[in-house]
Formats: sequence, C-alpha cells, structure tokens
Amino acid sequence: MSHSPDVIVLFSGGLDSLLAANLLRRQGLSVKCWHAFSPFFGKPGARDFWRKTYGLDVHTEDVGEAFAAMLRQGPSHGFGKVLNPCVDCKIHLLRRAKMYMESVGGRFLASGEVPGQRPMSQRRDVMRVIAREAGVADILVRPLGAGLLEPSLPEREGLVDRTSLASISGRGRAGQLALAARFGITIIPTPAGGCRLTERENARRYWPLLTRLALPTSVDFALANLGRQFWARDREASFWLCVGRDKEDNERLARAAEAGDALLSLRDMPGPTALARGGARWPSGIMLRAANLTAACSPKAVAGGRTAAVCVKTGEEEQTLAANPERAAFFESPPPFGLVRDERRLRFPPKNR
Ligand code: SF4
Repeated sequence: MSHSPDVIVLFSGGLDSLLAANLLRRQGLSVKCWHAFSPFFGKPGARDFWRKTYGLDVHTEDVGEAFAAMLRQGPSHGFGKVLNPCVDCKIHLLRRAKMYMESVGGRFLASGEVPGQRPMSQRRDVMRVIAREAGVADILVRPLGAGLLEPSLPEREGLVDRTSLASISGRGRAGQLALAARFGITIIPTPAGGCRLTERENARRYWPLLTRLALPTSVDFALANLGRQFWARDREASFWLCVGRDKEDNERLARAAEAGDALLSLRDMPGPTALARGGARWPSGIMLRAANLTAACSPKAVAGGRTAAVCVKTGEEEQTLAANPERAAFFESPPPFGLVRDERRLRFPPKNR
C-alpha cells in the first residue's frame, strides 16, 4: 500500500532544507523531499547518501531544460550579481515542486528559506512575491523562519504546529547549527549555495552560449562546465571548442560528444581530448586551427617544437591533421566577467523590478 506524504520539502542538500525536513518530521508528519538538479546546481547522485545519513526519502527531478529556456529568454525578475536568476528560479522550483506534490497526493510544501538570508530572493517582500507568482502562497510553510512570518494556511489550519517551528533570520548560521545539534545531526552539509550561476568564472563559460548559439540547451550548458572553453568567430559563424585539462575532463568530453561533434586528440604523444561542437560541419581551415590549439595544450607537443599529428574523429570517420602548436591564437577564452556583466545589462534589462 502506498502512502501519500503530508509534505513535500524542497530539498537542496544544504543544512537549511535538512532542518526544515526535520522540524516537520519531528511533528509526526510524513515528509518526502524533492530535489531539483540542472547543469547549474544539484546533486542527484547524493540520493543514497541522504537516505543513509539523514533518513530522508528524496525524489530527484531534472529541471535543466526549463532553466536553459529561462536563461535564453532572460528572467522576468532579472539577474542577481552574476548570472543567477534567483527570483525566477525560486518561482519555477516551487511550481515544479507543487506539480510533484499534486502527483503524489501531498498536502503542502515546505522550504528551508530563512528571511533576510539572501539579498535577492529571501527578503520578506520578495518571498511573498515568489510564493504568490508560484501559486503556492496558501500551501507553503517555511519552518526555519515561521515564527517571524505570517502564519501559512497549513499552520492556521493546525496541520502544522507553529509553536514548534523556528524563528531564524539573517545570514548567520548560529541558529541553524544550534538546531542541528538539538536534532543530533553531526554530519553538517556545507552551506547550500553551490550554484554555478552565482560564480563569475562560470558566468564567463555560459555567456558565449547565450550570445552565440541560436538555442543553447541544457546539454550545451552541461558541456560548458567541462574543460577549458574556447570560442572563435569567422564571418557570422561561431565555433566552440572544449579542451580537457586532465584525464577526467578528457573522459567526460569523450562521453559528451554527440552526433555531428568532432573529438580531437594527439596521435603520438600525451595531450588533451578536445570536443568541437558541431565539428563535422566546420570548414577545414577552422578545424586545423582547432587542432593547433589542441596541440598547444600538450606540453610535449610544444616542447617538440614541430608539427604534431592530431586525430580528428567525427562519428566513424577519422582524419589526421599536421598541427602547429605555435598557431593556436585564433581561438579565444570566454570574455572577462566585466564584459559579461555589461553585455548582460544591455541584453537583459530587468523587466518587473
Ligand atoms: S543561487 Fe542558483 S539555485 Fe539558488 S536561487 Fe539563485 S539561481 Fe536558483
């Protein structure tokens, strides 16, 4: 017999959502956690760890494609300091969590949000906007800051005992750590965050996708997380090359290759694997420049001071190019963050603020 949970907790894997789940569980409510992941955040592989370590039943859901679409269109509430669309992100996650809740017969939602913790999305006024736009204003409980917030419907109706929830606010962690100690939680997750969209280096990786690709997908953003990123432009066309930094990168790039991509590697000496997105259609002159760069990332090829044989595989086809590591200047690293920020402001001015 399957039981519907009372509450679905939006679970990031951080301490706050872990405490929210515990505050509700200790009231005897049946808790199920919902964990969203994408190329930008999430740890779907940690499900077993969370079950074994914290006794949590976690459902994971890939929201990457919706996030790629949000970034393409520009978030209606604008970006934070980097490329983080926090308000739109929270609205979207709450909507998705609500759909999940309805599909499993849950009664309400809970999140680990703490008033005043984050400047963009955890101001009280913004928290109200988020809940309203997500259509969850009546069913969302925020157990960590409940004592400081208006009572939610589940609290008013007595589904949740408001008096045993917490009254934590602000950016410090002392309240959370004290609560964790009270619950006997000894393995403390690192502070949530971990969202690549808040990091400048990652914004630099993602920005060329938004400005040069017609329709960047979740798979493209996942590829942008790998290796060193290089871009080149020739007339109107852009060319994207990802070069592995180590063995792990090389293996990941080889696995990430899709039909139409080309994989480059040195034939006779150690060196990186490089993935040319859509490389099967690249003009031969551009591919030779990509081979030059691949060779330039091999210390042995550079030290050799002469041409190096670079294999270029596209599907079943393979060719070998004589690459010159000294002619690698055509491809460039992504733009500095200052440029990304300026272009972002021009391209995506805030709409609803
Ligand atoms: S930091 Fe990232 S995951 Fe968190 S709300 Fe902002 S965009 Fe979403």
